Amino acid sequence: MKLVREINFFDDKEVQVKLTWMSLAIILCFLILLPVFLFIIYQFSLSHNFNFKVDFPTFIRPFIILIIAVPLHEIIHGVFFKIFKPEAKIKLGFEAGMFYASAEGVTLSKRQFMIVVLAPLVLITLAIAIYAFILCHFTSAYLAIALHTMGCAGDLYYVQQLLRHSETTHIKDTSVGAEFYQELH
Ligand SMILES: [Zn+2]
Repeated sequence: MKLVREINFFDDKEVQVKLTWMSLAIILCFLILLPVFLFIIYQFSLSHNFNFKVDFPTFIRPFIILIIAVPLHEIIHGVFFKIFKPEAKIKLGFEAGMFYASAEGVTLSKRQFMIVVLAPLVLITLAIAIYAFILCHFTSAYLAIALHTMGCAGDLYYVQQLLRHSETTHIKDTSVGAEFYQELH
């Protein structure tokens, strides 16, 4: 197999700068769309007869949600690694300001890797959306989804890099990131 790309989140300054910009771009998109979202929720509250208000707890709840979502995010990565590679040893940790789940040395197909990478974003967004509808905490949920998605910059960077290096067929997890490989026939 031919090495296509090596990603190092811890030592590669260029990657770190790109992640910072991606996080800022994500949160900016959510903030720009916030008035639209508030308008929709306000209309929805009128037609569905619930009390729409933005108060202090509205801004506290997202952080409480994040305290649960962040470790859960890494556990979901780990669970999906295990589903595809039951023998994989999963390491959960925190380094250089980032939480991570790694399965060092484990190689997955591109499809499997995409699922491992995107599962937390999809499942946690879904869970927060369900919470929003159950408790009518739509604004808190929106902010929580915004902050969580911002924290997914590393995951989204993988997706962006895989789209850029579309010849990649396999991905090996390393202690610092991942290596993309192309299977040669
Ligand atoms: Zn992640």
